[in-house]
Amino acid sequence: MGAISAITIHHSGFPEGFRATGTEDAAENLRFILAFHTAPPPDGRGWADIGYHFAIDPAGRMWELRSLQYQGAHVKNHNAGNIGVVCLGNFDLHPLPPEQWAALERLIKGGERYLGRVRIMGHRDIADEATSCPGEHLYHALAAIQR
Ligand SMILES: [Zn+2]
Repeated sequence: MGAISAITIHHSGFPEGFRATGTEDAAENLRFILAFHTAPPPDGRGWADIGYHFAIDPAGRMWELRSLQYQGAHVKNHNAGNIGVVCLGNFDLHPLPPEQWAALERLIKGGERYLGRVRIMGHRDIADEATSCPGEHLYHALAAIQR
């Protein structure tokens, strides 16, 4: 992973969105993403683990995913020292629930207490290829807390 200098925010971006608030709904959705990230190509990405370090579900639960010991797989060519956080949902389609946004702010603030000053980005801010991630609604909300 190396020295951590950035936190990059994503949405899961499924075309149908994801708005379920149950613990098991989120766990099932995360297992689906894990299976896709770890399945060998062409069915999946063939990675060693889910690509993100943390997830936040629509009810505001935080999920610890890939260990911070290891570089993530969430922004091609820009994973070194970069924590990947995925907010479950499609924020091109739906606004972020207040509970989910509050949890994301807590995670970012907690990260800064632990790490010191880091760059906070939406995926599209550093992607080499065009992406709408983390979705319009979340991207504009993030602008308020970015530096
Ligand atoms: Zn993304």
